[in-house]
Amino acid sequence: MMSMKIALVGIGEIARNQHVPTLNASSDWDLAATCSRQGTVDGVESFSNFSQMLDTRSDITTISFCLPPVPRFAYAAQAIRAGRHVMLEKPPGATLSECQTLQAMARDAGVSIYATWHSREAAQVDAAKAWLTDKKINRLTITWKEDVRRWHPGQTWIWKAGGLGVFDPGINALSILTKILPDPVHLSSAELFVPENCETPIAADLTFAHPGGAEMTANFDFRQEGEQIWSIDIETDAGRLVLSEGGAKLSIDGVAQAEVDKAGNPLIGEYPRLYAKMADLVRSGGVDMDLSPIAHVADAFLLARRKTVEPFYE
Ligand code: NAP
Repeated sequence: MMSMKIALVGIGEIARNQHVPTLNASSDWDLAATCSRQGTVDGVESFSNFSQMLDTRSDITTISFCLPPVPRFAYAAQAIRAGRHVMLEKPPGATLSECQTLQAMARDAGVSIYATWHSREAAQVDAAKAWLTDKKINRLTITWKEDVRRWHPGQTWIWKAGGLGVFDPGINALSILTKILPDPVHLSSAELFVPENCETPIAADLTFAHPGGAEMTANFDFRQEGEQIWSIDIETDAGRLVLSEGGAKLSIDGVAQAEVDKAGNPLIGEYPRLYAKMADLVRSGGVDMDLSPIAHVADAFLLARRKTVEPFYE
């Protein structure tokens, strides 16, 4: 099949580490341009003016946005108005309403839009979902603890309103949760810990109400030193499932599950799967805009008690 031309907007950490290598290795896509105020990619035409890119490169039919959430909407809306298909890094926007607006705009314009959730594509998430289908969940504990200094150096936007703070990684856990659970859950209480010099939380404790009465909690913390933990631990009537390393590893009753598919091939990683899905959406004229992970984040910001904690300095 012919490859399709795509541009990347917002050349920072995730664009460099994941999007560029994935696009370079993909037969679906041809990385034809980038747009960023400063960032560039070797060997690829670069723009710093988005309107100019849209005007001069009408051959580029898909735009993938790797900007922080707050500046994203205006660019994505402009791309849709210019008739381009749009792929959004997580979270798909800074508010629920702007995500809904983008979705409606895309449908009206007849272009594809994809709110990506990369953690949903982690190697063992589908296997976890399949195993849970016929189990009764008694308890679920999410532990998502990482060192913000190690993973987000210099990303000052994370601490500004709309930057999500610890929900920037925490939303990945929520994206897995909303994929693997057979029943929907809703937030029942939350506590956010906000450094006195920041606008977003550095840690959060969440409790969810489950229709079957299971105890469900999440603990997100950006202050973790030493071991980094991204795990979901689920006790059921038929054993215990632990999804760890952000969904890359799975154990059931303490037994590590195979990391190959039925044909013996290694399980494919997150970003190749995202771009393969985007290619399918564009070819089929589809829209994939599941907002359930960001709805939980919005609920946490609506419902939470807030506690001011010591200032954060990078
Ligand atoms: P980042 O390193 O800060 O890169 C974002 C880039 O966007 C910046 O380098 C900047 O490039 C550009 N930009 C344009 N307008 C901006 C503005 N107003 N403020 C700040 N930057 C602006 O961030 P990132 O880690 O790549 O994250 C980008 C998105 O990807 C976020 O939504 C994040 O949640 C998601 N994500 C990140 C990771 C990760 O591990 N880092 C993983 C998965 C998803 P110019 O200065 O050249 O314009």
